[in-house]
Amino acid sequence: MFIDYETFRQRADRLRQLMRQACLAAGRPPGEVSLLPVTKTHPPAAAEYAARAGFTAVGENRVQEAVEKQPGVSLPLRWELIGHLQSNKTRTAATRFDRVQSADSGKLLRQLDRAAGELGRRLPVLLQINAGQDPAKFGADPAEAPRLLDTALACPGLQVDGLMTIAPLGATPDETAEHARRTFAALRLLRDDLAGRHGTPLAELSMGMSGDFALAIAAGSTLIRVGTALYGPRDPWPAA
Ligand SMILES: *Cc1c(COP(=O)(O)O)cnc(C)c1O
Repeated sequence: MFIDYETFRQRADRLRQLMRQACLAAGRPPGEVSLLPVTKTHPPAAAEYAARAGFTAVGENRVQEAVEKQPGVSLPLRWELIGHLQSNKTRTAATRFDRVQSADSGKLLRQLDRAAGELGRRLPVLLQINAGQDPAKFGADPAEAPRLLDTALACPGLQVDGLMTIAPLGATPDETAEHARRTFAALRLLRDDLAGRHGTPLAELSMGMSGDFALAIAAGSTLIRVGTALYGPRDPWPAA
C-alpha cells in the first residue's frame, strides 16, 4: 500500500532539515538548494502529495509513465524528465515535460529543439554528464561537454539551465561515498570551466539523490532529486 500524506509530509520536513544542515556545514545559504521529489514507480497520489506540500515540480524518469500518470494529477505541477530519453520520444517529452534534465547528445538536443519550435515554446534543459565515468550510466562524456554545450546554445528552442549527473555506485558504502564525492566535484569543476569559457551561467547543478544528497550539497548542488527517502521503496506503477 502507498504511504499516506502525513507520512510524506513528515519525511519532507525531515529531509528539508537535513538539507539545511548540509548547507550550513558547507557554508552555503540554505535557500540555495531545491528538492525535486521523484515520483517514478509511484501512483499519481505521489505527485499530488508533493503539490499539496508546496513543491512546484516532480521528477519522472520515463516519458510513457509520466504520460499515463499526469491525467491523475489535478494540482498544478511542473514535470521534469530525469531519465534516459529515446529519440523517438523527443516530441512527447517536449510536450509533456517542463524541463528535460537528461539531454546527453547533440542529436537529442536538435530533436528537442525542433519539437519545441513546432510547439512554439522554449524548453529548459540540463545537459546530463557522465561525470563519474560510469560505463553503466547514461550521460555525455565530460570531454564532449564543450561541444554539446555549443550545440545546445545554438538551439533557439532550448534554454540551457545547467548540468545534471548521477554518481556511480561502489561495491561498499565507503566506495559509493568516494565515487559520489569524486563525481560531484568533477561536475562542479566542469560547470565552472564551461560557464567561464562559454559565457553562460549554467546555474543549475542537479546532483544528489536519497543516498548521497549531503555530499552533493557539499560539492555545490543546487537541486537534489529524491525518491526513496520521501516515498519509500519503489513499486511497479501502473500495477502489472
Ligand atoms: C530514481 C532517480 C532518482 C531518485 O533516486 P532515490 O535514490 O530513490 O532518491 C534521482 N535521479 C534519477 C535520475 C533517478 O532515476
